[in-house]
Amino acid sequence: MLKQNLTIALAGNPNSGKTSMFNALTGARQHVGNYPGVTVEKKWGQARLDHRQINVVDLPGTYSLTAYSLEEVVARNFIIKEKPDVVVDVVDASNLERNLYLAVQFMELGVPVVIALNMVDVAEKKGLHIDEEKLSRLLGVPVVPTVARQGRGMKELLSAAADLVSHGNGWKPLQISYGQDVDQALLKLVNNFNGQSLIWHPLSPRWVGLKLLENDAEIIRQVEQDPGLAGNLSPLRRELAERINKTLGDDPAGVIADYRYGFLSSIYRQAVEETRAQRLELSDKIDKVLTNRLLGPLFLLAVLYGIYEFVFWASETPVAWLEVFFGWLGGAVHASIPEGPLQSLIVSGVIDGVGGVLGFVPLIMFMFFAIAIMEDSGYMARVAYLLDRVLRSFGLHGNSVVPLIVGGGISGGCAVPAVMATRTLKDPKARLATMLTIPFMNCGAKLPVYALLIAAFFAARQAEALFALTLISWSLALLAARVLRWTVLKGETSPFVMELPPYRLPTLRGLFIHTWERTWQYVKKAGTVILAVSVLMWALMSMPGLPEEQAAQWEARVAAAAGEEARQELQYQQAQAELAHSFAGRLGSALSVVTAPLGFDWRTNVALVGGFAAKEVVVATLGTAYSLGEVDPEEASGLSGRLAREPGWNPLMAFGLMIFVMVYAPCFVTVAVIKKESGSWGWALFSMLYTTGLAYLLALLINQGGKLLGLG
Ligand code: GDP
Ligand code: MG
Repeated sequence: MLKQNLTIALAGNPNSGKTSMFNALTGARQHVGNYPGVTVEKKWGQARLDHRQINVVDLPGTYSLTAYSLEEVVARNFIIKEKPDVVVDVVDASNLERNLYLAVQFMELGVPVVIALNMVDVAEKKGLHIDEEKLSRLLGVPVVPTVARQGRGMKELLSAAADLVSHGNGWKPLQISYGQDVDQALLKLVNNFNGQSLIWHPLSPRWVGLKLLENDAEIIRQVEQDPGLAGNLSPLRRELAERINKTLGDDPAGVIADYRYGFLSSIYRQAVEETRAQRLELSDKIDKVLTNRLLGPLFLLAVLYGIYEFVFWASETPVAWLEVFFGWLGGAVHASIPEGPLQSLIVSGVIDGVGGVLGFVPLIMFMFFAIAIMEDSGYMARVAYLLDRVLRSFGLHGNSVVPLIVGGGISGGCAVPAVMATRTLKDPKARLATMLTIPFMNCGAKLPVYALLIAAFFAARQAEALFALTLISWSLALLAARVLRWTVLKGETSPFVMELPPYRLPTLRGLFIHTWERTWQYVKKAGTVILAVSVLMWALMSMPGLPEEQAAQWEARVAAAAGEEARQELQYQQAQAELAHSFAGRLGSALSVVTAPLGFDWRTNVALVGGFAAKEVVVATLGTAYSLGEVDPEEASGLSGRLAREPGWNPLMAFGLMIFVMVYAPCFVTVAVIKKESGSWGWALFSMLYTTGLAYLLALLINQGGKLLGLG
């Protein structure tokens, strides 16, 4: 149904041609006055579209929508309180990138916007070719080219506005990412709003949060007057702003502005062709190389390889120290607690289980440090920009890039926040495809497994091995996405815009905070979940003990042993017999029927079952399993040394195992999050089954194929 009495508000930067447009639209039907309460000139008048009358209000010219000046407050309050049907943002096309800054803020606010691309005559003369259809598609709002001084494009403009009112979705705020620090701060603020206190319809909570972070005096005042909000919000707002300031070396408003410009700059780049050389900012100059179609990917691969070299090089010594430390600790406990279940629990279950995982803390930490540099410098956004092109040809979306990287695209990450980050994908099928491929990425939990096996079997080529694993995980994710998008998740992908904020020199403090936060998560997980599962696995591997009769036989044989060496050998065999008799031993042996073609023995099977809980458990369980059979922990050379000597373990089997760990069912928590985010147990179940099936096939291929080639 047509709304009979439309009101449109003209807004725009000073000198964008607003007054000219107002005159062209309204002709003689104009009035002048002041806005209620303030002496800012208010002009209103009527325009005609066919037989409809349209009220036009000329808002004061502004550069921004934050309440820094009276004009801004007046323009914004008019929009929020009077709720015009459409805001027509008049932009100077010859100065597009800068003028669109205001447009983005209208879009963030959520009011329906039509962009009048004014002064296109001047833009043409300057050698700018603006693809207005593409611009409209990328921004998601109608764009109408106009020449206000000559009255060109006025009818089209009014029709576009009227169309938007009849067919648009009303207020709908644009959500852009302002980088992880600000995004998280916004989430925290929004979670602290309580529903009934948000009286400022039609504002979205995220927008209010944004203004609070931007230190918008007007919104802060309103929030502070709201008894339901003020008490808890003000300290929180200050704390979050302070934190961003410390972490990024800039106040939130500056960071937010950077991301807005980044958002625009990537749109501008796609929709505008500059035939005449325009001035290049430093960031743009760097981007000419780093986002170049050919040089960009090469540079990215070099960066990845460099990171892996650095991480292994830097962590080698501290990892060795920790190994010595846990070896010493195990020995000390072994000596001070009498032999029995308690000693076994602490030495084999806790120290060799959790210690195995904690031993890789330095490696994880350096990896997070490298990732923090990539993020804080702004390079990660370029990585996403580069990958966007690749991803789309595999049926994923540009918005899939960030979740895939969060999930461990560089190595080190976590699928749980990654799956939640897919919320930025509006297209439900592309979103599901992303969710289902995130688990292929090399999350922080898989890293210790890789590190263990690489140290044991590929010690000469550590960086190369991790580099290869990264490329394999991406290839598998992309192929899986392609297949999913051809089969169960068929559909088109929608256009996408990537924020490209200017490069920044990371602050040491910021790097430290980002590295520490994630490393601490890893340590905490090792001390809680991994500890619990590790103890459980130990119990399954120690119980039930051998039947009394058999146990007595073993004791007698050990006691009767001739010489220390024979005694140790018998004790080792006794431990083996106990293991094989345990619940885990029996489960592992039962699974051997299935895993024998992959080259996995029963202990590996148990570790993989434990890995469903969390993939670090694979390391913890192998640690426990191989320490249970160990006679003298003081002589132990660390788990990787033990595995390298163990019969049945070889580089081929280790490679197959790493691929299996990479691909098989995502951990428990990830599956739960997939269920929650997809809204169905069906997809969660699917995510476990298809990955495990694929993992089996790949490991089978590697082991059998490798043997055929004479490897292993
Ligand atoms: P305002 O500050 O936004 O109200 O802008 P004005 O309407 O006063 O326009 C500023 C200047 O730009 C004036 O000299 C106008 O004549 C000129 N102008 C406005 N629209 C156009 C246009 O589409 N093309 C060209 N070439 N000049 C324009
Ligand atoms: Mg004017």
